Amino acid sequence: MSGKENDYIDEAFKTNWIAPLGPNLDAFEKETRAVTGAKEAVAVSSGTAAIHLALSLLNVTKGDTVFCSSLTFIASANPIIYQGAEPIFIDSEPDSWNMSPQALERALQDAFREGRPPKAVIIVHLYGQMAKMDELLTLCDQYNVPVIEDAAESLGSTYKGKASGTLGKFGIYSFNGNKIITTSGGGMIVSDDTEALQRARFLATQARDTAPHYQHSSLGYNYRMSNILAGVGIAQMQVLNERVEARRKVFARYEKELGHLPGFIFMPELDDTRTNRWLTALTIHERQAGITTAQLVQALAQRNIEARPVWKPLHLQPLFQGTRYYPHDKENHIAEQLFQTGICLPSGSNLSEAEQQRVIDCIKEAQVRTSLTKGVI
Ligand SMILES: *Cc1c(COP(=O)(O)O)cnc(C)c1O
Repeated sequence: MSGKENDYIDEAFKTNWIAPLGPNLDAFEKETRAVTGAKEAVAVSSGTAAIHLALSLLNVTKGDTVFCSSLTFIASANPIIYQGAEPIFIDSEPDSWNMSPQALERALQDAFREGRPPKAVIIVHLYGQMAKMDELLTLCDQYNVPVIEDAAESLGSTYKGKASGTLGKFGIYSFNGNKIITTSGGGMIVSDDTEALQRARFLATQARDTAPHYQHSSLGYNYRMSNILAGVGIAQMQVLNERVEARRKVFARYEKELGHLPGFIFMPELDDTRTNRWLTALTIHERQAGITTAQLVQALAQRNIEARPVWKPLHLQPLFQGTRYYPHDKENHIAEQLFQTGICLPSGSNLSEAEQQRVIDCIKEAQVRTSLTKGVI
């Protein structure tokens, strides 16, 4: 927390705005519009709810298909199942770790050939890194398929000067506790289509028709963010830039200290983009490094330092067994390679230099020790 959150919470209590709607909610949405440049923003209870609303707005329903990045957190794809639709997973490409335009193109060609165009494409910006949006949007425009940007991890990142989440038809953010800014739990859907987001507000409040009694003609949800949590969000949004700077500094320090180790390759940053470096991620290549990602995670855990492998690709998840998937190319299944070799290091905005030094020392020491045992050095 930045310290200012309490002022907004106190205000909500003093004025008795405890119900979901209220002035903090309006101010938080306004702040989000100002920060991202999106024409409209609707605050909801989670990033997952925001994706679900986006799919509802696009009339995704039973029997439809939706394309989705494979290398991501499961919440990117679960709402596709909520709608009774079928996900088709698209592999990553090596420059951004995000959706591969060439895999997407093959998937689109097949879908149109089979007469089953997807209702939407969900593009994820992994760990803050922007996907190759020009290439991906050109393809989606060509085939006239709307894009939902899952910017849950990339709030504060930019692509050619534009805010992450504002490049597709809809963008979604998450304010879950682990994200770059948080309302403890929450999300936001943004778009330039103000009419569609008016409907998002309606759907998120149980789709109540205008009538003196309770009348409903559409299926709605209870998805609005509470006015109290929105107060936390206002204060957090004000420190977003600081948080991005802090995370980028954490990344830069890791890269400076560890980037020269053999087989340690840090997540790149695409030209003309700026990532928020939500998490510092890198790949470790055993043959040169003499240590595997799994061994390093274990060595750090022994020192009470938590590091994690990158997301397990969704096409490998038991839940999605048998789901269609398009690899980058026949030989290169990039998401699977990244899952084998990728690791996320402690990256909190409040990580002190001393704490980070302890992580760095531990990694250096584990790399030397393990590679000596294996006779690599
Ligand atoms: C966190 C996250 C979500 C879900 O957001 P919640 O607010 O936790 O529901 C969706 N997609 C990605 C890529 C995420 O990291």
